[in-house]
Amino acid sequence: MSDLAANLREISGRMERAVERSGREPGGVELVVVTKTWPAELVREVFEAGHRLFGENKLQEAAAKIPRLPSEARWHFIGHLQRNKARKALELFESIHSVDSLRLAAHLDRIAGEVGLTARVYLQVNAAEEESKGGFRKAELREELPTLMGLEHLQVEGLMSIPPRVESPEAARASFRSLRVLRDELQELSGSALPGLSMGMSHDFEVAIEEGATIVRVGSAIFGPRHVQPGRLAPETG
Ligand SMILES: *Cc1c(COP(=O)(O)O)cnc(C)c1O
Repeated sequence: MSDLAANLREISGRMERAVERSGREPGGVELVVVTKTWPAELVREVFEAGHRLFGENKLQEAAAKIPRLPSEARWHFIGHLQRNKARKALELFESIHSVDSLRLAAHLDRIAGEVGLTARVYLQVNAAEEESKGGFRKAELREELPTLMGLEHLQVEGLMSIPPRVESPEAARASFRSLRVLRDELQELSGSALPGLSMGMSHDFEVAIEEGATIVRVGSAIFGPRHVQPGRLAPETG
């Protein structure tokens, strides 16, 4: 077995055990293997180990990589999306986790309508109200939700967050829990289901699962650290 296949197996095992610990139904959590910065050949190893769902955060990089993998691979977009790239994103990705404004949502809705598909999205929440990060503030989401849910060609799968980086996985628990609480509140408010919770990354996916994640985004725990050449900054995780 290749190292990547072994890592994939280990992560899957840890996911299953987190699901068990939290008394959830088996199989309720999907794994997005985050392939940003890694070449298609390495992604192919993970594909050959049987995995099918991958995530990218930059459109240009993804557009070059995706055609180099078999078409059975499924792709989710997890990075900041500019409106002028919405059309391309809808072509390449089956889901967009990072819809961070009503403007972007409305734009995706319009383009999805034009091309005759439904855009599956998660609404990115900036619960900690960090200046440096995109996403809906909680109050904004409560206010704009009816409009968002009314967009005909948009299917809102749920909420997504990138919590502030903290020392220990345990320290991230409160922010995962608060995303779930917000989701429950918004479901109540809108009367429509928001089943998805996209939360948890390499260092904290188990805690995220314990707090209700339905889809986790894991990169470095599978591929190793994304360090780059000396003198360059490490790629952003956000
Ligand atoms: C890079 C990235 C991840 C994966 O991060 P790891 O710590 O490598 O698992 C998850 N989500 C988003 C939005 C990312 O940009």
